Amino acid sequence: MIELQSKVLNKTIHVDRLIGKLESEEEGPTLIFTGGIHGNEPSGVFALNTVVDQLKSQNIPFKGNLYAISGNLSALKKGVRFDQKDLNRQWTRENVRSLHEKEYGNVSDREEQLEIHQFIESILATHAGPFYFFDLHTTSSETIPFLTINDSVINRKFTRQYPLSIVLGIEEFLEGPLLSYINELGYVAFGFEAGQHDAVISYENHISFAYLSMVYAGFLDPKDINYMKYHHHLEKQFLFTDKFYEILHRYEIKESAKFAMYNGFRNFQKIKKHAKLATSNGEIITAPMKGHIFMPLYQGKGNDGFFVIRSVPRLFLRLSLFLRKVYFDRFLVLLPGISWASKQREALRVNLRVARFYTKQLFHLLGYRSKTADETHLIMTNREVASKMGDYKRADWFK
Ligand SMILES: [Zn+2]
Repeated sequence: MIELQSKVLNKTIHVDRLIGKLESEEEGPTLIFTGGIHGNEPSGVFALNTVVDQLKSQNIPFKGNLYAISGNLSALKKGVRFDQKDLNRQWTRENVRSLHEKEYGNVSDREEQLEIHQFIESILATHAGPFYFFDLHTTSSETIPFLTINDSVINRKFTRQYPLSIVLGIEEFLEGPLLSYINELGYVAFGFEAGQHDAVISYENHISFAYLSMVYAGFLDPKDINYMKYHHHLEKQFLFTDKFYEILHRYEIKESAKFAMYNGFRNFQKIKKHAKLATSNGEIITAPMKGHIFMPLYQGKGNDGFFVIRSVPRLFLRLSLFLRKVYFDRFLVLLPGISWASKQREALRVNLRVARFYTKQLFHLLGYRSKTADETHLIMTNREVASKMGDYKRADWFK
């Protein structure tokens, strides 16, 4: 049990690994919310605490189950992003497998991850599904709220219900976020970035997001809550941005380099090619392409300096759903330089010497994410292979 204080919210709460839960006998979805996997982002933990209290004290009827889980408790207590290791970068398959071995990493980090892992495993073992995972975050810079998703069909169909901007494909640039691990298990799972770490509006955005999520997943009936208030609260911040974006570029901060963004960049702000964005050890870093700046780092730990993103046309999104439906990727292996990487046909091996004409975008269109195998080969993994689509087929949002 730890004590969390917020001056801006004028609140003090006491939380454990389990912030709160609601369980019912009635058939329905199981929702898992995580907050504070980054310890300097307590806003989501406060919001989950509030939402669970409200659902209980107002006796709001629900179908299914809801679990609110806190992330990095020891880092939350200290108010830092993490102690030794970023808890949201430890969820690679190898790491999770080695969780149960003795010789793994720093002890306290390992215990936090092990506990979260066991919690999730036991929820998955107890209920029948469908399962929905929501990970609550905040950012160092000021921003409108937005969603980050791995671009699978189930994630995309579910998240398009929100009046929010959606950024596709962040997992290609990050190693081991919790939600990529859950996605690979086949479930709907994505991140919500509510706003700046200490802003009151981030807390309010988390609350609105949580209620909309419960409605969209079929856990709550919109008639039983003030649905329009929550919807409008998020929608009015979203008005001037596009719906879907994709990530073009990530600037990784070099080890022990002194990195500083130039002042005044707002998230989603348009930038020109060669625009001066930041300095690293005094050297000027410019934009490698035109687009929109995304998640510029203004404080604290982390090695993502900034991202460059661009809006994705709707036509492209529709085409990609169609191509995935007809398994168009089965034809790709007929092209020179492309072959299956394994018998399970969950990944393609692309010889860059031969196949340099096919852009990454073609693969994104078909639901693949890329990992560089070596200088001459790309391994493209299919996000759709693991998806438990059958679990979601009966949901309203899937049709
Ligand atoms: Zn975070």
